Amino acid sequence: MQSQPRFVSFILALLIAVSTSVFCSQIPGTPFKTVLIVFLVALICSFVLIYFTFKNLIFSELYKLDGLIDKLKKKDFKISRKDLKSDLNPIQRLNDEISFFAAMKENEIEELKKLETYRREFIADVSHELKNPIFAAQGFIHTLIDGAIDDPEVNMKFLKKAAKSLDGLDELVQDLLTLSEIETGSAKMKKKQIDLFPLVNEVFDQLEKKAAKRNISLSTERNVDFPIVVNADPARIFQAIQNLVENGIKYGKEGGFVRVRLRSEKEYVEIEVADNGPGITVDDQKRIFERFYRIEKSRSKEKGGSGLGLAIVKHIIEAHKSRIKVYSNLEVGTNFSFKLFKKSAN
Ligand code: ADP
Repeated sequence: MQSQPRFVSFILALLIAVSTSVFCSQIPGTPFKTVLIVFLVALICSFVLIYFTFKNLIFSELYKLDGLIDKLKKKDFKISRKDLKSDLNPIQRLNDEISFFAAMKENEIEELKKLETYRREFIADVSHELKNPIFAAQGFIHTLIDGAIDDPEVNMKFLKKAAKSLDGLDELVQDLLTLSEIETGSAKMKKKQIDLFPLVNEVFDQLEKKAAKRNISLSTERNVDFPIVVNADPARIFQAIQNLVENGIKYGKEGGFVRVRLRSEKEYVEIEVADNGPGITVDDQKRIFERFYRIEKSRSKEKGGSGLGLAIVKHIIEAHKSRIKVYSNLEVGTNFSFKLFKKSAN
């Protein structure tokens, strides 16, 4: 393949040299020696000129195109729009454009493949999560229909268990709806100026009973006395703080504490929800924000979570252009924190 430009150039140069020397020989009185010199000069000059034109302008670009097709087969793309220079010749530009286009298409395909896997996994997870409470409620109700209804020892117990499974199902569906609303962007954040301290106290009021059951104390701390106001969606932030505090109660140490700390800075407020529970390993910290991810599946399920609580928190905080962080030490406790901005970013 490499010898092709040389061979083609030689043939063309030979044609030019022959025609030039034939033309020269037609001029009367031209000595044979001169014709021979013209032939040789024309051959060498044409060969050099044609060979370099072929090699640098055409063949090297064709080799690149060939290499690109090879890359296409191996799916290896490392070209960006910045690499395309406007002073390139048309073949080089074509080469780069094809390369850029191919890279773009390949990225799109990769993205679509990821989405497809994500969709498939999501459907599998949802079906699995829905199946358990439905089967449980179905089992209890059928046992009651088959005669247990007349047994005063178990009828109420079975009805309560069926109701509990259906409550879990309801919680799961609500969480799924919330998550899908935030993910698809159909639920726009209704931001306004909100005072965080009363909002945290409202969360505590709602969870007081649950905390009391596990003898967990709830407390708030703040670094300033005046109202701590941020620009955020009150209902969504209420939900995020509620999920974090509820987790502190559910997974924290019996007789322990859950503390919400508000730290007001010039442009933002940092909200921290801490507990002195069993903590979360570094590996689990990387995954707890995934949908349906639970640590120690059976234990967590027993405590009644849908596995969507932290995924919802993450989406809400990201919709406020911020990020949720987790710090945790085993046997010491867990600390979730995020920032909310005081002024609207728009
Ligand atoms: P769920 O809705 O089931 O509570 P989450 O998404 O809220 O699920 O939490 C995911 C997992 O992270 C839980 O199963 C639990 O094991 C773990 N987790 C969450 N918060 C804490 C915490 N404060 N302390 C220890 N583990 C926690």
